[in-house]
Amino acid sequence: MTGDSHQSLEVGDRVVPSGRKVQFRYAVGTTFNDDPIEIPVTVINGTRSGPTGFLTAAVHGDELNGIKIIQEVAGHYAPEDIHGALVCLHVLNVPGFLAQQRYIPIYDEDLNRSFPGNSRSTTTKRLANAICEEFVSKCDFGLDFHTSTRNRTTMYHVRADMNDPAVERLARAFGTSVILDGEGSQGTLRRVACEDGIPTVTVEMGRAHRFQTTHLDRALHCVASVLAEHEVLPDHPVSWPGWTRVIARDGEKSWLRADTGGLVEMKWGPHSLVEDGEPLFTISDHFKDEVEVVRAPSTGLVVGVLENAVAYPGHPLCHFVSVDETTADIIRDDIERGVFDVYREGGFQWPESQWYATHGHGTKSKHARNISETEREENR
Ligand SMILES: [Zn+2]
Repeated sequence: MTGDSHQSLEVGDRVVPSGRKVQFRYAVGTTFNDDPIEIPVTVINGTRSGPTGFLTAAVHGDELNGIKIIQEVAGHYAPEDIHGALVCLHVLNVPGFLAQQRYIPIYDEDLNRSFPGNSRSTTTKRLANAICEEFVSKCDFGLDFHTSTRNRTTMYHVRADMNDPAVERLARAFGTSVILDGEGSQGTLRRVACEDGIPTVTVEMGRAHRFQTTHLDRALHCVASVLAEHEVLPDHPVSWPGWTRVIARDGEKSWLRADTGGLVEMKWGPHSLVEDGEPLFTISDHFKDEVEVVRAPSTGLVVGVLENAVAYPGHPLCHFVSVDETTADIIRDDIERGVFDVYREGGFQWPESQWYATHGHGTKSKHARNISETEREENR
């Protein structure tokens, strides 16, 4: 681990001196067509000492929001801006990203159940091993960006092992209102990194296959807040989301299910706060003879939704978390002011005068890159 970034940083088979930003592709293997499998990497090694943080996206190949977040972070921060270093892995599951699917194509393996991997095993395990050995193990904390699975959507939230004080610090600094407590499944990047003493949280937001600008804008503020908390950006404020709700690992969250099979209509929304007894879904047969109404069991939040149009009996419809009246009042106020999680909004325009508008570096033509600031290398 490299706490002092006055030192050079050794990642991905290369040495990045202090005060340099380097962008390259790290080769992790080949396809059966003998094409290289390469992870796009940005390393920003600050001019001043501090911790090293990693940002990762698309461990599930079709989860795109994090890719845009990392592109923006990698473009925005210069070595002079930061104390310490940032290691940005823009896409982890490169084969899945190319195929726009969640798992490693053909073998249907979940890269996010394959950590810490094995350099002498399958492509998936080798990929996991290279990510851990060459990058994650060199860092002091990490953020792994996800979205919901295809055909689902999820509220903006963080998943973190809140029993670990360093992870709790990271989760709270990220500043989402909802934190799902838990150590994560075996083989996830977050769990393996945490077990290695590198506090890491998973960030979940919205849908697969999209850039959802409202989420992205907020996430870029949250990344800056984490960097502030860890003194990478010592002059930046740590954000506070207004309210937080840590969902305990047992009991508090529950799946609402369909008792009868049929055609599903969503009745809730546009916001994820729902009132006790409010109809959330109806399930009907073709002739509308049988209609089941699934209601909110209490006042609460619809954290994750399966956007299926059809459901078998017993099929989960949504992930529901109850909230107390005080929290519900704060959320109602946020809704009133238009600042509550707006994950059902379909807008794809970057909001005016928000992070991107004030920080965005714009589009650079391939021939007009600032070479003194950014050094590109080939990794063949
Ligand atoms: Zn995911």
